[in-house]
Amino acid sequence: MSYTIDENGYYGSYGGAYIPEMLYRNISQLQDNYLKIINSDAFQKEYKQLLADYAGRPSPLYHARRLSDKYGGKIYLKREDLNHTGSHKINNTIGQILVAKHMNKKRIIAETGAGQHGVATATVSALMGLECVVYMGALDVKRQAPNVARMKMLGAKVITAHSGSQTLKDATNEAIRDWINNPEDTYYLIGSVVGPHPYPDMVARFQSIISEEMQQQLMEKEGAPDPDRILACIGGGSNAAGAFYHYLDNKKVQLLAAEGAGKGITSGESAATSILGSDGIIHGSKTLLMQTSDGQITEPYSLSAGLDYPGIGPLHAHLIKEKRLHVYPITDIEALEAAMELTTLEGIIPALESAHALAILPKLEIRKDEILVINLSGRGEKDMDAYQKYFTYLKKHPKDELEKSFLFVP
Ligand SMILES: *Cc1c(COP(=O)(O)O)cnc(C)c1O
Repeated sequence: MSYTIDENGYYGSYGGAYIPEMLYRNISQLQDNYLKIINSDAFQKEYKQLLADYAGRPSPLYHARRLSDKYGGKIYLKREDLNHTGSHKINNTIGQILVAKHMNKKRIIAETGAGQHGVATATVSALMGLECVVYMGALDVKRQAPNVARMKMLGAKVITAHSGSQTLKDATNEAIRDWINNPEDTYYLIGSVVGPHPYPDMVARFQSIISEEMQQQLMEKEGAPDPDRILACIGGGSNAAGAFYHYLDNKKVQLLAAEGAGKGITSGESAATSILGSDGIIHGSKTLLMQTSDGQITEPYSLSAGLDYPGIGPLHAHLIKEKRLHVYPITDIEALEAAMELTTLEGIIPALESAHALAILPKLEIRKDEILVINLSGRGEKDMDAYQKYFTYLKKHPKDELEKSFLFVP
């Protein structure tokens, strides 16, 4: 079984490029050139240099002793939270901005939900002196005001999408419309392992630096490059793809992922695509997505904005189908508890997305001699509002009542 993409851009039966005819030229230009560009010496030299001096890589692999004492085994955290702009997203935006430059594109467009990808895109556009336009749903603009302010300070134009549910999928539609209208000078910078081929493969390659470093760091610390298990959260799946990439064919390494179960998988308010999803087409690729019986995309929900996505990248859909990847649905409350726990045990406030990966730990039986790596995809500053509301709630209400009632609404 192969976990790499075939010549038509499929992982097994998932992937491909389902796009309007007017985008054929843009997409085939990218399909024909991306590997040549990213494998060239000039590209690799500039990419590696920026990862080191601008993003701050390699990110440390930290042995979390107090967390390990609690759960058993030896738990390492891959510290993507320490990257410039606060998450793994910068690995991909640095890579793609260089692809855009090599293709002589002058204008960058992106869509964003929570604004994290928008900020990472505005950041590298400023770095390269390129015009940047970010599409964002009207509801998200309201919910994510600090990130809107950051994008604007970085010089990006933020265009509000007022159609539909006024969230990520509406912003995506607007971005695609823009690209159709500006095919010559514009580069569409996608933020996860989603979208038409070649985006899922290209983004996975840029994020694969995570597992490349993990292998070297484990070699130094443990004398062998393989952990027993790797844990990551999945929104679209880019940080997980990066953390798994160099281990995909190595069956001795178990791959575990967390998805946003929101208020519970049967509550009607979740983003648990691996359980509730079925085959369909979203954002230009065939994959698992949450939809009604007549194919309308279901509005997802997770307290964590980065996991609040109705689909999953085609690589992950394939890994799930082949039983190479096991996915755990994690509720908002489980993630909030895991975030509090990491903060008290290790002095690290994680992003709420990353807290979902940490919340897998209590569900595992861990052997004493086992080595686990958790990909800590981002830092928690952006989630302080939710965290603060959670402590205030905990003070007023006993914990068991909270778990039973799900009254907590941030
Ligand atoms: C955006 C984001 C995610 C989810 O995106 P993936 O493509 O699934 O990695 C996870 N963690 C953080 C901190 C994010 O900003």
